[in-house]
Amino acid sequence: MNNLEPVKIAVRSLYDLQKVRIELSNRVAAHREMYGESVVLETIRNSAMLARDGEVLLAKAVGVAVAGVDIAEWLQAVRGVGPVMAGVLISEVGDPARFENVGKLWAYCGLAVERTCDTCKRPDHSKSVDNDGVEVIKWNIMDKDGVLYCAACNDGKSKFRGHAPRRSKGSKSHWHVQFRGKLLGVLAPSILRARGDDNTYAQHYYQHRERLLGKRCGLSPGEHKKTLRDADAKTTQEALQDNGCTNGHMHRKALRYMIKMFMQDFLVQWRTIRKLTVRPPYKEEYLGKVHHEAK
Ligand SMILES: [Zn+2]
Ligand SMILES: [Zn+2]
Repeated sequence: MNNLEPVKIAVRSLYDLQKVRIELSNRVAAHREMYGESVVLETIRNSAMLARDGEVLLAKAVGVAVAGVDIAEWLQAVRGVGPVMAGVLISEVGDPARFENVGKLWAYCGLAVERTCDTCKRPDHSKSVDNDGVEVIKWNIMDKDGVLYCAACNDGKSKFRGHAPRRSKGSKSHWHVQFRGKLLGVLAPSILRARGDDNTYAQHYYQHRERLLGKRCGLSPGEHKKTLRDADAKTTQEALQDNGCTNGHMHRKALRYMIKMFMQDFLVQWRTIRKLTVRPPYKEEYLGKVHHEAK
């Protein structure tokens, strides 16, 4: 019932073939531009079309393999999640037992919020492993009447600021870059495009956008970049809304929020099916309130 291997090899094969097909198409386009049409180009173009046929077959195979996994039914009922995306989600997450809380899954997907001190730039917590192999979290937070200050600075004014995980220079990325790209670049737009009154995740997106409009952005005006969503504006300054944020930035925040809500339900559902306990993320445990926000 829960053989993940067929899902994994079908998904991987599909992406391998897709990659080759895209390379072939690009090659044809580049050569035609420089040297014009030829028999060779036509053959390569035909081969790319055959690869397309292969992708259709492999996508079907992903669907067949996915149907044999316990979480498939739930996933397929979500608006915007097709069989291939279900296969990607199942094979990337793999075993829900690996993530005892959603914070760990978000971190794995590159969706966790990191918070650093505005003054000393230290993170709000550090992790280590004790002699028994248990993960220990040391908080760098001073809680003063519900306001959180940096314990390292200890000046009663240095606060933390949440942001999406960044890749520090020279260090290997600690999250699954490709998976994150699939979630935000493929799954999120697909959910937004899907129709139906029962598209709860699209509703999450729109409700969160609405909330963001009434909230000041944590980034300074200069930290914003104009995007396609702000195409009407000539400059970044012009793109800034009353809340100090741009449409592009609010769009990205709401997309991240929507995907996080989806991943949370996905994990809870899958762990429940497997009769595993479900714990809230550790940040919620520490602060007693929910922090989904990233700047
Ligand atoms: Zn500090
Ligand atoms: Zn903003």
